[in-house]
Amino acid sequence: MPGPNSAASCYLIEHDGVRIVLDLGPGAAGALLRYATLETIDAILLSHLHADHCLDACSVVVWHRYAARSHGPVALYGPVGTMQRLGAAYEQPAADLGDVFDFHPMSSITSTGVEIGGLRISFARMNHPVETYAIRVEAGTTSLTYSADTGICPELIRLAKGTDVLLCEAAQPDDEPGYPPDLHLTGGQAGAHAAAAGVGRLLLTHIPPWVNADAQLAAARTAFAAAELATAGMTYTL
Ligand SMILES: [Zn+2]
Ligand SMILES: [Zn+2]
Repeated sequence: MPGPNSAASCYLIEHDGVRIVLDLGPGAAGALLRYATLETIDAILLSHLHADHCLDACSVVVWHRYAARSHGPVALYGPVGTMQRLGAAYEQPAADLGDVFDFHPMSSITSTGVEIGGLRISFARMNHPVETYAIRVEAGTTSLTYSADTGICPELIRLAKGTDVLLCEAAQPDDEPGYPPDLHLTGGQAGAHAAAAGVGRLLLTHIPPWVNADAQLAAARTAFAAAELATAGMTYTL
């Protein structure tokens, strides 16, 4: 969910005039306007359809229909059912959003990946209760891998192998037993995945507002020293 200092999940990647967005959680489209008008986004990739990762795609519909009317559909990648889910969230009966989004199911390109304006994108299924994809973005020899939401997952280690930055969720408190399994990573588990994948840096993200972020960071650093907390509005140059 959003917190007092951040919208829900959303990450803007820019390379050589190309802009892609990973996830669009509640509040994210407004924050995104500080950096890019929404019609300049070349592609939107939704890791999964939990509300905290996708619902502000509805705000993109509003923008395209009322602020950037002459703009054609934007490429949208996501799990099967994305258009139905967003259409139902936008209005009832469910809206046809084909004028705003040109949809591509990630399941059809999981093995091949996709190229978007010089960015090579690849995916891997994560260990989460719904169809969920981690996303690796590469430009030349530089790369970033986003975990999406996941419990402990060897596929994340495989996808993130040698990546420069692992942007990894750490939603589950380390010191509170009783969380459901196969849902989220603790800080310590995020650090262990980063170490096993041999990544350059670890950015912890998706820490809920009721969880102590410093404790998540300390736990991650016990397994992987080059860990930091991602914060809203921060820019990282790779
Ligand atoms: Zn989720
Ligand atoms: Zn989530």
